[in-house]
Amino acid sequence: MKPFCLSCNSETSFFFEKFVPEINSKMQLFKCTKCSLVFVFPFPDHKQIQSFYDSNYYEKPGFLVFFLQKFRVRKLSFLPKGKLLDVGCGNCSFVNVMAKKGWQSFGLDFSSESEKYFNKMVKPELDSNVKKVLFKPLKQANFEDDFFDLITYWHVLEHLTDPVLELKEVKRILKPKGKLLIAVPNIESFSFKLFGKNWFHLDLPRHLIHFSPESLTKLLGSQGFKVEKINYYSFEHNPFGVFQSLYNFLGFKWNFFHNILRKRISPFSSLENIVNFVFTLLLLPIIIPFSFILAYLFSFLKKPDTFELVARKV
Ligand SMILES: [Zn+2]
Repeated sequence: MKPFCLSCNSETSFFFEKFVPEINSKMQLFKCTKCSLVFVFPFPDHKQIQSFYDSNYYEKPGFLVFFLQKFRVRKLSFLPKGKLLDVGCGNCSFVNVMAKKGWQSFGLDFSSESEKYFNKMVKPELDSNVKKVLFKPLKQANFEDDFFDLITYWHVLEHLTDPVLELKEVKRILKPKGKLLIAVPNIESFSFKLFGKNWFHLDLPRHLIHFSPESLTKLLGSQGFKVEKINYYSFEHNPFGVFQSLYNFLGFKWNFFHNILRKRISPFSSLENIVNFVFTLLLLPIIIPFSFILAYLFSFLKKPDTFELVARKV
């Protein structure tokens, strides 16, 4: 059975499939024949989805996270300060940095693990401009109508199961002419075409919806938003996407470097890890420049690994 499109309800066709070790089965992706939205079908159930975000998924904001937040903040520096909601705030580092810049900041996350993590590691260090951090779906947060000046989804929308419902709620709680920032992986990227199942940003089973600038623009248009700007250059995500996809493609342990950076595995915990680590390091002088060159070429051609879009409520 083919599903109907989550965005425009049109017919879909089979697009891609991949075996996903975490759920010990294949996941299938379908593509809308009209708006080109790609999504997993069927979705895992709610309990299964929660299990994809265990305590290892969250990291303490360290130097690298803080450094990368600076890029995000700079991209939004053209906006007058007001009330911000960061949906899928994770370790709250973006909420906190924006609060320090003078934004009245609110955070929201969905996972029960993130709440435990928040209470233990993050709460004591928050800036006083952080007004509230909630752990529930947006619809249940009951924010007032026309409340926020800016709502951000940094690599979050692809994790949700009902983007239409989500955007309806965003529209309700955004002020007139309020801004919405969405950063997502790009299923129309050259990296996906080149690396396929090895593409880092495919991230199954967590990424349930796969957008492109075209499908996201259509979805936003149908929900009462006007796209003002699309940024194809992301220093934070695009070179690393190519970098890790290349290692996956070459047969290294799955997302090995990424998992070391996120401290999910130790490079010395087994002989296999030591071998992977040594060869990873040996190849770095070739892979790093190659990744940057490819990533910037793909961005220039408007087919990058990820993109960021700013829309306005109309
Ligand atoms: Zn569609």
